[in-house]
Amino acid sequence: MSVMTRFLLHNLLPALVAGAVAWSAIQAGIHLLGIHRGKLRLCLLFAPLLKSTLVLLGAAVVLPWPQEVFQSWHQQAVPTRTVLPLFLLLTGAVLAARALLAIRSRRLALDEAVAPAGATLRLVAALDRVMAGYRRNREAVAACWEGMPALERPRLLVTDRPHHSPLIVTQGEPTIVFPRSLVGALEDAELQGALGHELAHLSLRQPLGCYTSEWVRALVAVNPLAGLMASHMRREEEKACDDLAVAITGHPDVYAGMLLKSYRFAAAHRWLLAGRLQFVPQLLGVGARPMLAERVERLLGEPEDASAAALERLWFVLLWIGVVAVFFRG
Ligand SMILES: [Zn+2]
Repeated sequence: MSVMTRFLLHNLLPALVAGAVAWSAIQAGIHLLGIHRGKLRLCLLFAPLLKSTLVLLGAAVVLPWPQEVFQSWHQQAVPTRTVLPLFLLLTGAVLAARALLAIRSRRLALDEAVAPAGATLRLVAALDRVMAGYRRNREAVAACWEGMPALERPRLLVTDRPHHSPLIVTQGEPTIVFPRSLVGALEDAELQGALGHELAHLSLRQPLGCYTSEWVRALVAVNPLAGLMASHMRREEEKACDDLAVAITGHPDVYAGMLLKSYRFAAAHRWLLAGRLQFVPQLLGVGARPMLAERVERLLGEPEDASAAALERLWFVLLWIGVVAVFFRG
């Protein structure tokens, strides 16, 4: 059997099976235990990709049992010392290509953007209130988003270019770019919600942790499971950012109204630059199919009390222990 056939049958195929099994088990756990908090879900959902990548590298078995089935499958895999250098080379090339594309997206996003003046000064006042709300609501923010890094105030620009949504450029000096015509369409409290969402994206990007779908996208070329997961992770990231924005501003109903108006605005602008800006986090997500109903529905659900939140965290920890015991043992 050639090395390539061995790799396909004994590295790639079991990697896909391992990822699919772990993904299904974790999704079932999240659903059964009622884990709604976006950040907790994101933290759990990166485990299948990690597991799948270990199997792909020939460093892990699909499941610890039945041992004879999965061990013999694993024993014929191309060994880690052969796969790892190629894997690192390919990942490095993908990351370099993504960095170049991100620079291009940054240029496109910032092109012709100017500091707010006149009517758009409302936006500056809204960002002042968001930053103050973030400091004031530290407790609510921490409950929603443990270990969140301290947020620096980003630069704020407005643009007349046909961006379909506010966005944040995270490379270099963090900068929020807001379409000028959307400023006029949103109330002050709604502007705060939109800015809070962009700030949440900024906090997800630093440092690169399990909370961001960015590194899932980076693995798309080296692990096919990452390609299958990327759009789902993006959706989870949007929901996690909604959670944080609401924790900062404290008005889920106003936030839901803002989302509705922003989706309407995006539809009117026909996603003109959306595809070309896919490396820049945006209010409405990137490339993913519209998820307005899903986002609004969870925002308007019953508010959780402190004991429900504590119980959810307990389930999260127990599910993590279960995932490690089953998928990362030995
Ligand atoms: Zn977003």
